[in-house]
Amino acid sequence: MHDFLCPKCRQYLRVGENIIFKVKNSKKQSALLLLSPQIGNYTSHKHPSFEIQTGESLEFYCPLCNTSLISEIHKNLAHVIMVDSMGDSHNVYFSQVMGEHSTFETDGESVHVAGEDAGRYTYFKIGDKFRKYF
Ligand SMILES: [Zn+2]
Repeated sequence: MHDFLCPKCRQYLRVGENIIFKVKNSKKQSALLLLSPQIGNYTSHKHPSFEIQTGESLEFYCPLCNTSLISEIHKNLAHVIMVDSMGDSHNVYFSQVMGEHSTFETDGESVHVAGEDAGRYTYFKIGDKFRKYF
């Protein structure tokens, strides 16, 4: 299974069947949010006391170094590094908006798109903003 790393501290964010994030909602309440490591699977888990509305924009943070994972590409997209079974690194961008399904994965040469809402980011281009890691 692929590993997911924080782009800042390079520590592992995937544990078992989940990628673990710290998130803040629009009321600035913090919680842990678990996402599936399978690209295109938008199942998420959170404690029921943490309220988020569909369409609400969350802020994603690394739970280990507390760095914001907001991407430099778009404020709605968070950025993590995926390391595949060959040891190759990919940049993965996903929407921080609850209920919005858009994920982009790139190895610096090609972009793979998942999610029915990815069309909202059609201006998303491969280019200087994409760096190959490692
Ligand atoms: Zn980190």
